[in-house]
Amino acid sequence: MKIHEYQAKELFKQAGIPVPEGEVVETPGAAYDAAKRIGKPVVVKAQVLVGGRGKAGGVKLAKDPDEAKEHASSILGMDIKGLKVDKVLVTEAVDIATEIYIGMIMDRSCQKPLVMASAEGGVEIEVVAKENPEAIMRLHVDPLFGVQPFQSRGLASKLNSDFNLVRQIAQIIEKLYTVYDRADASLAEINPLVITKDGRVVAIDAKVNIDDSALYRQKKLEELRDVSAEDPGEVKAREAGLSFVKLEGNVGCIVNGAGLAMATMDLIKTYGGEPANFLDIGGSSNPEKVIAALEIILRDPNVKSIFINIFGGITRCDDVAKGLVTAFKQMNLNLPVIVRLTGTNEDIAREILAELNLDTAATMDDGVKRAIELARS
Ligand code: GDP
Ligand code: MN
Repeated sequence: MKIHEYQAKELFKQAGIPVPEGEVVETPGAAYDAAKRIGKPVVVKAQVLVGGRGKAGGVKLAKDPDEAKEHASSILGMDIKGLKVDKVLVTEAVDIATEIYIGMIMDRSCQKPLVMASAEGGVEIEVVAKENPEAIMRLHVDPLFGVQPFQSRGLASKLNSDFNLVRQIAQIIEKLYTVYDRADASLAEINPLVITKDGRVVAIDAKVNIDDSALYRQKKLEELRDVSAEDPGEVKAREAGLSFVKLEGNVGCIVNGAGLAMATMDLIKTYGGEPANFLDIGGSSNPEKVIAALEIILRDPNVKSIFINIFGGITRCDDVAKGLVTAFKQMNLNLPVIVRLTGTNEDIAREILAELNLDTAATMDDGVKRAIELARS
């Protein structure tokens, strides 16, 4: 789950990481008032759940409240990478001397949190990793002990040579780990962490992603979820209890079970096709779920065919077939659909499905090949 910059900054503040004072507003008039209260030059920043806002024109410096109002009115309503801006953060501007990058993720291959740091801040870390990989320093953290002071000082001293600044940066690295750890984050990032012209170290951007699997014990953080800013397909899937990940291909997939869903995507790739999504409808034959799944897939204009792949174990195929019949009768589908059902009561299921005139496939290979062909034609 992603949260907004202003929310991540609140977590930073609670952990003692210095952040500039700021207010979130939804109208140009309120931006004027906020800038006036702050009483200094401000930055007006689009609050959308995507990076690279600066480049897209969503971050603007304002010397006075009038300018803040002007910028707010141009940024509010703006489209940044497909997301509409409906909130801006009006925050005290800082005089930047240097921009640093500090980020934290889980390094699954080492089963340890990993701190990444670079003196080349302000740039997207993926770009640095590609063009100048040796500029990124890495530090693995033992989850039992957290970031040890000697580690954070060692890392910070490679980012700067001034003793006073090294101490501040080191403390921020330790505190960022606290945020990451307490929030069950999958990512905690400051880009840029800036050194100001008057020698302070301040986080002027903040990004925290929470591990979805930890939300059951992070109720307070889950309240921060901004549904209006998330992908509508993913929101709908979550509400319907489906696991859904949108991909870039043209073969829509509806599958029961995560393993079979993965295998289905692999097979589509093997036969030269591209899956449009991962979708696990779970072990249920509930027509509501099938309808929700179809609706989610149909939102994607890239989808040219749909492959429904069901293995009936505890879930019986005839139940699933009844669910499909109910769903298809309610929906007006004008895309080709291929169904493959196998397992418990598959014969009965085929009889039930005959009524729909659906294309049924005898094997998974068959179904996948047909779905790819239909997507192409
Ligand atoms: P992002 O583009 O979405 O990562 O948004 P950021 O919050 O990182 O802002 C983008 C860039 O705007 C930063 O790298 C800075 O160069 C600039 N910027 C942001 N806040 C300030 C500020 O307070 N003062 C100055 N001078 N520049 C700022
Ligand atoms: Mn940034």
